[in-house]
Amino acid sequence: MVQHCCQDMDDSLKFECTDHSNEFECPDTLVTYNAKFDEYGLIIHDGGSSSKAIYYCSWCGSKLPDSKRDLWFDTLESLGFDEPSEQNIPKEFKSGTWYKYL
Ligand SMILES: [Zn+2]
Ligand SMILES: [Zn+2]
Repeated sequence: MVQHCCQDMDDSLKFECTDHSNEFECPDTLVTYNAKFDEYGLIIHDGGSSSKAIYYCSWCGSKLPDSKRDLWFDTLESLGFDEPSEQNIPKEFKSGTWYKYL
């Protein structure tokens, strides 16, 4: 389990909606957390799955962790995965597990 900065963030990221199967389809859900990049974002409800990265918590004001998106690509590349979206990458890289061992 990931420890978020505050209860409000925790509650906002918890996605339990019986009407929608996906948080991007649910107008009541405003924030998303991408575990593999350790990245928080505001959901852009345009019918797709886009989000805008945020760097501070909207509730408690804490600075959120720096996105590990670049590091994710660099680390995979150093392991020989230069096209991670096309390749069968190790499963740690699909969650937040991979950077705990760096
Ligand atoms: Zn919903
Ligand atoms: Zn917070």
